[in-house]
Amino acid sequence: MKLFSSRPSLRGKIAFAYAAIASLTLAISLFAYEELRLLEDEILLGERVSELFDTALEIRRFERNFFLYGQDADYRENVAYSTRMLGLLDSNARDFVTLGAGQRLAELRGELTRYRQAIEACFAASREQPDRLKQLEPDVRTTGQNIVAASEAVVAAERQLVKHSLSSFRVMLFFSVAGVALLMIAVGQALSRRVVQPLKQVEDSLTAVARGRRRALAMPGEDREIVSIVTAFNQVLKELEERQKHLLRSEKLASMGTMVAGVAHELNNPLSNIWSSCQILLEDNTLATDSPQRNMLRQIDDQCVRARDIVRSLLDFTRERRFQVETLPLEPLVRQTLRFIKDDTPHELEIGLDIPSDLAVRADPQRLQQALLNLIKNAMQAAGERGRVSIGARRHAPGAAAPADAGLAPCRDMAAIDIRVSDNGPGIPPEILPRIFDPFFTTKDVGKGMGLGLFIVYQIVEEHGGCISAASEDGRGATFVMRLPEDGESTWTHEKA
Ligand code: ADP
Repeated sequence: MKLFSSRPSLRGKIAFAYAAIASLTLAISLFAYEELRLLEDEILLGERVSELFDTALEIRRFERNFFLYGQDADYRENVAYSTRMLGLLDSNARDFVTLGAGQRLAELRGELTRYRQAIEACFAASREQPDRLKQLEPDVRTTGQNIVAASEAVVAAERQLVKHSLSSFRVMLFFSVAGVALLMIAVGQALSRRVVQPLKQVEDSLTAVARGRRRALAMPGEDREIVSIVTAFNQVLKELEERQKHLLRSEKLASMGTMVAGVAHELNNPLSNIWSSCQILLEDNTLATDSPQRNMLRQIDDQCVRARDIVRSLLDFTRERRFQVETLPLEPLVRQTLRFIKDDTPHELEIGLDIPSDLAVRADPQRLQQALLNLIKNAMQAAGERGRVSIGARRHAPGAAAPADAGLAPCRDMAAIDIRVSDNGPGIPPEILPRIFDPFFTTKDVGKGMGLGLFIVYQIVEEHGGCISAASEDGRGATFVMRLPEDGESTWTHEKA
């Protein structure tokens, strides 16, 4: 999976997009919270401004009563309210300045001070100087009106401020919602581009594969998840293709085997008749020893023997016989097989054996020996007198990949033993590699090969529920691997089909 670690991942991108949306939403929420807090402050300030305005109205109310009825109590209430108003101005001086009505507030304070002096003078004159009171009254009333007007201006300024804050809050809210909506649309589009489109491409590729226009899926993106899905799909397609090839080859070889068996049966009788007749003629003493007729009969005899051997090996192979599978320790079996061909083994040929002693397979001993014999003989012939043949075995863990061993893929998931026979001969040209298991396929000279060895090996491996592969790299010898089921608990038998 190292391949994928440096790739960008869809998961990362989705997480990043959601983090961006969450951060934006959080920032907007904090901003809105702060705005609401300011609005709350402004509303509280509005309450104090309203109190200021109400106090100004009370001042005027007691002023009117004082001039109407001349009561001391009205004068005192008036003074108390003006004192209160001065107190309000002092205690809220800083907050009121934020209203942007500084000038108005300064005027208000000045008017209020003048008003206090004027009404105090009126109160003093109200006892003994009614005329002077009459003179002073208009000034008090005018100043009182100014106070109410200035208070109204402050109230208006505060309302303006709240209105402004509300409208900017509305604008901020609109742009925030629009911003989040745009971001979500962008994220949606990016996700569609990164996920939906590649999946659509995968679907199109799969349709093309199903219709036989493609063999593998095209890679629609670079994201780790997409790459991993497409790689897995392509792996499955490759394995399916290999299994299909294997199946086709098995079916082809099985029907060829049936045909070959039929032909062998049919040939057997005429061949025996020809051979018997030839023998009778050869025993006829009327023919001179060196006569051309006798030489021809000898040739017929030789060819009959050769044909008989072919038919015999075919009949032997296809004969109904008991197929008995048992647990076979591998190493002794291979050593015994090598002993069988000891006399045919060139002196200088190097044979390497690498088979762990604890390996055992489930197989029919004679059949497995026959298969081993055919493979080893071929390897020896290919390697030549001074060549090298290696026979090895190792355990195959179910599911473990076998690189370059396409023929073994169908047996990938079984617990098995891989038996490897390789040589350093000239190798097998790629153009004939797909045909080497066919019956009667041979590249050897007449009389040296019948082309049945590998066909028989293939059938034996199939009978055991195993797989076989052949590989060869230009001029670097050939390697055959038989994968057979590993030794299990029970011994089983069945009649060969
Ligand atoms: P035969 O040995 O009678 O030709 P086989 O079925 O055993 O029949 O082999 C078929 C062909 O496969 C051989 O003729 C040869 O071309 C090729 N072959 C088999 N084994 C090897 C090998 N070890 N190296 C090179 N070619 C091989």
